Amino acid sequence: MSFATLGLSKSLLHAINKKGYTTPSPIQEKAIPHILKGSDVMASAQTGTGKTAGFTLPLLQILSEGHQPRRRPIRALVLTPTRELAAQVHENVKTYSEFLHVESAVIFGGVNQNPQIRALRNGVDVLIATPGRLLDLVGQGHISLAHVEILVLDEADRMLDMGFHRDIKKILPLLPSKRQNLLFSATFSKEIKELAGSFLQDPVLVEV
Ligand code: AMP
Repeated sequence: MSFATLGLSKSLLHAINKKGYTTPSPIQEKAIPHILKGSDVMASAQTGTGKTAGFTLPLLQILSEGHQPRRRPIRALVLTPTRELAAQVHENVKTYSEFLHVESAVIFGGVNQNPQIRALRNGVDVLIATPGRLLDLVGQGHISLAHVEILVLDEADRMLDMGFHRDIKKILPLLPSKRQNLLFSATFSKEIKELAGSFLQDPVLVEV
């Protein structure tokens, strides 16, 4: 199995090649084709399995294939439990989008919000965010989620452990109801299954 046979574009293959990856990891092999097809996906994957590229690569492909509005509304939202993970996902997005016309930004709490607001000013296609800071900036009118086409919940089990359930419940109604949803979690507890049931539509289950 190669990245090319998974259906990824030349620009993405170029970035993957530059990064030095030769073969997709098992989670990438299993998840990427379903995500490219537009399915909701619920995937169990620990850190270190290559899960970040598993959702970032197809997400970028979908965004770069679709209609790219000139004003750049946020079209993909990735929620993470911690600022470290948010920053890491953003690094991945920047690396893989090097040869695409896709802009991204990251926002998280615990730091001054003004540089983050400035980074959003010209519009971004992909926003990576921790839930609290996202709600703050939405509340202040700096962010609209009205055009989000893809939602990713990364490390969903840690999000619940950290008490983000209420924030997630506040964020979901801010998104269009017609969208693609991806949930990644190291474990599938009862709570995760309930959360997944509340917003994933006919998800494909991917386990590695
Ligand atoms: P992650 O599980 O997303 O945190 O990724 C773990 C590490 O694996 C990161 O350092 C990635 O850069 C690397 N990685 C992801 N996909 C591949 C791949 N297909 N081949 C080699 N390394 C990879």
